[in-house]
Amino acid sequence: MTALALVFFVCAVALLVAVLISARRLERRVAALAEPNDADANPAPTERIDAMLAQLEVDAEGLRVDRDRLAAALHAVPDGVTVVGRDGHVLVCNAAATRFSGARHSDAVAEQAIGELLDQALHGQPAERELILFGPPRQTLHLRAFPLPQDGSPSGAVAFVRDVTEARRIESMRRDFVANVSHELRTPIGALAVLAETIAAGTDGEVTARLAERMVSESERLARIVEDLLDLSIVEAQERAGREPLPIIALVGDAVDQVRLAAEDARISIDASNVPANLRVDCDRRQVVSAIYNLLDNAVKYSESGQPVEVTAELRDARCAIAVRDHGIGIPSRDLERVFERFYRVDRARSRQTGGTGLGLAIVRHVAQNHGGEVTVESHEGEGTTFTLLLPSAAPVARDLSEAS
Ligand code: ADP
Repeated sequence: MTALALVFFVCAVALLVAVLISARRLERRVAALAEPNDADANPAPTERIDAMLAQLEVDAEGLRVDRDRLAAALHAVPDGVTVVGRDGHVLVCNAAATRFSGARHSDAVAEQAIGELLDQALHGQPAERELILFGPPRQTLHLRAFPLPQDGSPSGAVAFVRDVTEARRIESMRRDFVANVSHELRTPIGALAVLAETIAAGTDGEVTARLAERMVSESERLARIVEDLLDLSIVEAQERAGREPLPIIALVGDAVDQVRLAAEDARISIDASNVPANLRVDCDRRQVVSAIYNLLDNAVKYSESGQPVEVTAELRDARCAIAVRDHGIGIPSRDLERVFERFYRVDRARSRQTGGTGLGLAIVRHVAQNHGGEVTVESHEGEGTTFTLLLPSAAPVARDLSEAS
């Protein structure tokens, strides 16, 4: 919560307490005026009293409306808000705060922590702390309490409870990501520095040429990491991908074109003849081509020379399943869950040797998520791997275009 929002909350709560108190005072005054007063020797004319009574009732009603509106607003706030009076008894407790008066152990721990902070605030000291509840589910709560001054002296206190579990998880992921990126970039940059120093120290022409070649390959590696990082940040930013109905055969064709040279170098054939020409997916062209390309690139990288790769597509319920199958080294079952994590590699040396960045499958998973789809993997070590990309299908074209040719 920003400082400004907190100030707003504290003011709103103070206002609510003031409105509550004023409403009660007004109600008492209205009741007193309504009672006949025998002791009054010179009663005011009845009409004047009636007019005053009517005005007071209007004012009281206005205050009641204000109070109900503020109370409704307070209940809608997702953070827990608890207001206590000078003696510590609870005056207001919004819907989110009532959660912590539950019977579960973790709720009791939270309730006790809120109570301690409110105590401190009642003694004029603002207080705050972070509380980890081990659950399950594990949760991180941020608690704050402030004194509520009225006419210069404390009239109670207010406590705010915010669930920061998701925010802390994202912060820690971001820290890990920055550490990983730094580590990945440091390796080729370090190699470039050493190679350049060796060349500068002066060696014969043949060695210099070899070192220069290594410099080129290290710079290409750096460029690939930066390109993949950019791709990843683009697909992460476009949570809802733009959609247009596109034939799968064209998307696969684009991806195959991009991987063709590498496949030819490795003498690996890519067979996409079983992709029906009438199937279409509702998708962002750039993202889906990049996902299929990454799957094909891996299929080529993790196969031995001469082992074929197949791409197929079929309709499954309302989705299109695009499968990329290889007959390469396979993935151990213990690693299957983790291969979609950024920078995760089963075999670091092989990934490095084949120019991998460890980001390809993270990009594929994001593309699938952006389309409301998913990516699955099936693999057997030494036999091969099949990645299947499930994407929302668009209405198929009227007839199979391949039949026309
Ligand atoms: P990389 O750039 O290292 O290939 P990816 O994110 O694309 O990174 O893949 C993560 C890891 O998953 C790879 O390092 C590799 O160990 C494994 N992997 C991905 N695809 C395949 C495949 N088709 N066959 C075998 N292993 C694969």
